[in-house]
Amino acid sequence: MKHIRNFCIIAHIDHGKSTLADRLLEYTKTIEVTQGQMLDDMDLEQERGITIKSHAIQMEYGYENEHPDFEKGQYVLNLIDTPGHVDFSYEVSRSIAACEGALLVVDATQGVQAQTISNLYMAIEQDLEIIPVINKIDMPSAMPDEVEDEIIELIGCKREDILRASGKTGEGVKDVLDAVVERVPAPEGDKDAPLQALIFDSVFNSFRGIIAYFKIENGSIKKGDKVKFFNTGMEYVADEVGVLKMNMMPKKQLSTGEVGYIISGIKNAKEVQVGDTITHIDNPCSKAISGFQEVKSMVFAGVYPIDPSDYENLRASLEKLQLNDASLTFMPESSVALGFGFRCGFLGLLHMEIVQERLDREFNMDVITTVPNVSYMVYDKHGEQKEVHNPSGLPDLMSIDHIEEPYIYATIITDTAYIGPIMTLCLDKRGELIKQEYISGNRVEIHFHLPLGEIVIDFYDKLKSISKGYASFDYHIDGFRHSKLAKLDILLNGESVDALSALTHVDNAVGLGRRMCEKLKELIPRQQFDIAIQAAIGAKIVARETIKCVRKDVTAKCYGGDVSRKRKLLEKQKKGKKRMKQIGNVEVPQKAFLAVLKLD
Ligand code: GDP
Ligand code: MG
Repeated sequence: MKHIRNFCIIAHIDHGKSTLADRLLEYTKTIEVTQGQMLDDMDLEQERGITIKSHAIQMEYGYENEHPDFEKGQYVLNLIDTPGHVDFSYEVSRSIAACEGALLVVDATQGVQAQTISNLYMAIEQDLEIIPVINKIDMPSAMPDEVEDEIIELIGCKREDILRASGKTGEGVKDVLDAVVERVPAPEGDKDAPLQALIFDSVFNSFRGIIAYFKIENGSIKKGDKVKFFNTGMEYVADEVGVLKMNMMPKKQLSTGEVGYIISGIKNAKEVQVGDTITHIDNPCSKAISGFQEVKSMVFAGVYPIDPSDYENLRASLEKLQLNDASLTFMPESSVALGFGFRCGFLGLLHMEIVQERLDREFNMDVITTVPNVSYMVYDKHGEQKEVHNPSGLPDLMSIDHIEEPYIYATIITDTAYIGPIMTLCLDKRGELIKQEYISGNRVEIHFHLPLGEIVIDFYDKLKSISKGYASFDYHIDGFRHSKLAKLDILLNGESVDALSALTHVDNAVGLGRRMCEKLKELIPRQQFDIAIQAAIGAKIVARETIKCVRKDVTAKCYGGDVSRKRKLLEKQKKGKKRMKQIGNVEVPQKAFLAVLKLD
C-alpha cells in the first residue's frame, strides 16, 4: 500500500482536466503520445468535450526525488477520471470517494468557477488531500497570479503549494506527478479484514457484460471468489478481476488500497449501482461503505417515434441504452397527438440531450421529444401522495389538496458587472436570494433557491447570454416546496395537442402561453389553410396567433421543363417532412415540441 496513490482530477468544465490527464499518461508512458484525448472514448464525449462516464487508469511512475519521507522507485498511481457536469454529480462524488487525493485544476484564464467549488466541497467532504494546479499557463491571457490569489482565498493553502502547468505544452507535468507521490496519502485499510470494496463506476461491454470498477477499502478479492453486492443483494462469481491500464489486465488477486475491475457475467446495468459495496458471500463485511444513494431521475419527457411502426424498435433501443446507462428510466405512455411512446426519466437536461443524440446516432431512431418537466408531488384531499411526471397525469383539480415541486440550491459565480441581469433572471424564475459573497476583486458568488422546473426551461442559455459566457452555474436538489401550478394547453385549429402541454406556476402561465403561441407561429411552416394557435388554461383561452395559409409549390421556381430537377426537389421536400408530425391536419416540426425551451 505504501507505493499506491489513488487520486482524481476535479475541475470546472473545459478547464483542461482531460488534457492534463493525457499528459500524465504520456509522461508515465502508460499511453503513446497522441493528438486526441485518450480518456474520453465515446464519440459523443469527444465532440462535446465532456467526460460523460468516469474511468480509471493505472500508471507506473518512477519517482526520483531525494526526499526524506519517500523512497525512490516505482509508484502505482491510479487516476480516477470524473465527469464534470452537474447532471452527473453523484458519479463525481463516488469516484472522489475512491481516492485519497485530488488535483484541483483551475484554468489560468478563467479562474475559480462554480463547479471548481462544488467539486472541491465534495473532495473536502471525503477528506481528500487537495493539490491545486493552475492550468493553461501557456496562454497569453493567463493570469496565474490573480488565480493564485483566488485559490488561496478559497482553500487557505500556501502560495508555494500551488502548482502551475500546461496540458498543452506539458510544462509542469513532472511536478504534478511528484506532488501526487509526496502529498497524496497512501491508502489505508486492513488487508486481513473481510472484503469491502466500493463500486465507483461501471461500463458496458457487449462481449463481457457489465464491468464494475471498484476500490478495495479492506480485505482482498481473488478470481473465482463468490461475492455479493451489498445494496442489491445480488450474488456472483468473480470470473475475472484485474487492474486497468489502457486495457484490462487480469490478476489473480487484488488487495486493500488497489483499484480494479470485476467481470461476473452481469448483463444489466441496474444490478451494478455506483456506490454499492462488494463483499464475500462467506465472511462478509458487517456494513456497506456509507454514502450510497439511489440515483433519481429529476427531469422527464416523452419520447415518441416519428414513424409509429418504429415503436417496438424504440423500446429495444431504450432497453439497450439502459444496459449501460442505469440512470435512464422509461415506461410506456401514449399521447393523443403523438401516438405510442415512452415517458423517459433523466438526471438533467444534458443527460436528456445525450440520450436523444445516442438514439439518433447509435440506433438510427427518429424521435420526437416533448417538453421536459420535473416530477411533482401531488397531495389529494385524503392526504394521499402521488408523483406526477407528465402534464396529462395531473389528477382532476377538484381532488387536489396541494402540489409540491422540487427546489434546488443554486450557486452562480460571475463578474460583478453581470450581477444585475443575473439577479433579475433568477427572480423572474421565482428564485429567492440566499446570499451573495465576493470571491476576489470583481468576482462574486450568488446563492439562490430556485424551482427546478424553471431551470429545466431555457435557464442555461439565458444565463450564458446575459453574462456573455462569464457565469458558471451549479446546483443540487434541495427538497420539495408548496407550489401553485397550472396546466397550460396548446390548441392547433381547436385541437388540444397534449404533447405541447406544460405544467407551470400560475403566475407565469399566461405569459408562457403568449410566448409559446408566438414561438409556434415562427416554427410551424405555413400550410394550405390557416392555422389557429391558442393557449388555454382550463377552458379559458389566454393567447392566440394565426398562421396564414400559403399554396406551397416548391417546383414553381423551376421554370422550363427540367423534369429531373423537379423530381429532386420533390424528394427533398419529402425528406424534409421526416422530422414533421401530423397533428390533426397540421404538420408540426420536431423543433416546435421543444419551442418552450427556446422562448425569448
Ligand atoms: P475538461 O472539460 O476539463 O476535460 O477540459 P479539456 O481537457 O477537454 O480541455 C478544454 C479545452 O482546453 C480543449 O480545447 C483543450 O485543448 C484546451 N486546453 C486544455 N489544457 C490546455 C492548456 O494547458 N493550454 C491551452 N492553451 N489549452 C488547453
Ligand atoms: Mg474532459
